[in-house]
Amino acid sequence: MSVATLALHPRQAPDVYQAEPIPDAARAEIDRLLSSGDLFRYTAPEGAPVALLEAEFAEFMGCRYALAVSSCSAALFLALKALDLPRGARVLIPAFTFAAVPSAVVHADCTPVLVEVGDNFRIDLDDFHAKLDDADAVLISHMRGHTSDMDAIMAECDARGLPVVEDAAHSLGTLWNGRKIGTIGKIGCFSFQSYKLVNAGEGGMFVTDDPELAARAIIMSGAYEHNWKKHPGLQNSFHHWQNKLPLYNVRMQNLSAAVIRPQIPAIDGRVAAGRGNHDYVAERLNRSPWMVVPPALPKEERAPDSLQFNLSGFATDDEARAFQAAAARRGVSVQVFGLSKDNARAFWNWQFLGDLPELPKTRAMLMRACDVRLPARLTREDLDVIVNALTEAAREVKAA
Ligand SMILES: *Cc1c(COP(=O)(O)O)cnc(C)c1O
Repeated sequence: MSVATLALHPRQAPDVYQAEPIPDAARAEIDRLLSSGDLFRYTAPEGAPVALLEAEFAEFMGCRYALAVSSCSAALFLALKALDLPRGARVLIPAFTFAAVPSAVVHADCTPVLVEVGDNFRIDLDDFHAKLDDADAVLISHMRGHTSDMDAIMAECDARGLPVVEDAAHSLGTLWNGRKIGTIGKIGCFSFQSYKLVNAGEGGMFVTDDPELAARAIIMSGAYEHNWKKHPGLQNSFHHWQNKLPLYNVRMQNLSAAVIRPQIPAIDGRVAAGRGNHDYVAERLNRSPWMVVPPALPKEERAPDSLQFNLSGFATDDEARAFQAAAARRGVSVQVFGLSKDNARAFWNWQFLGDLPELPKTRAMLMRACDVRLPARLTREDLDVIVNALTEAAREVKAA
């Protein structure tokens, strides 16, 4: 860009859609894998990058077992399969999540039951309670890293003996009462898709402390014949399940692990930077009369890489659309979840589920809830551009 252009546009809005760059440390390992062709996780007798990643991730999370897979969706699918739920089992999920979540439930031959979500983006506990009696399992999607009240959820589910799976795709590094999100339910699932905190293009992780669930998931992920011998421990369980479970082949390959491993030591720094960015922008937006950023729950320490807020005092959808357009003119892309066409996070677009329930709370929230990406690498200047664009856009629309 020329000096003249810079002078005309002194502060360009940052490109928030660019993913995290891959650490240089990944290059040597990728070169080694390319020259040897050793891309399949089960070829090497030991020390395959995928196996090393699993050990490192388990240690980072403080859990007993970690299984690397092709995506978080695959991990969610395996979680429901590992739980051995009967065909048609009713799985509660929040109605505010990504379409891949109800899809994973359908893929596992279960029936998703959508639970209302409030305007703080978290599960509505009254509706959760009302739907729990008919449930066979619970899948808590911490959408955009917003943690639902895990104390209340675990107390109710433990009392009924219901298994809880955590979709922690967007919650890597989030703490609940000092405990890592993804380790509170029976199984936790993570994503390494490019728009998550750790970027491998695609990839996922399944974590649990339960040896039977781990053994079942490992076999079903595609540890065919005796490849399970390359996973530590669990040998008796593997003997038991060998040939009794389908092989769904959702393994991770070595190149992905080589891309992920050097990012694990960077997680804590990205979490701190992301939280700092988020809280800086949230505090400023909350000064505007037109925007409300719901606070974290008291027991929650978030690890955000995006920001959600509600438009306040925007009576009509047209006003909310005008806000999106006014922000876009200032170079900032903001999506009102329920107003952008075919948004995969608006439950009424999940037509593959058949009859969709009316969920007035979630619908009202989605019609005014806004989504802005806020990657950890942004600078204070970048953040100021975003804050100013959003506050000026709201002021412009409300002044009209
Ligand atoms: C990204 C995401 C997923 C899906 O993850 P994939 O790895 O792309 O399958 C599921 N749930 C939530 C909340 C997500 O943000």
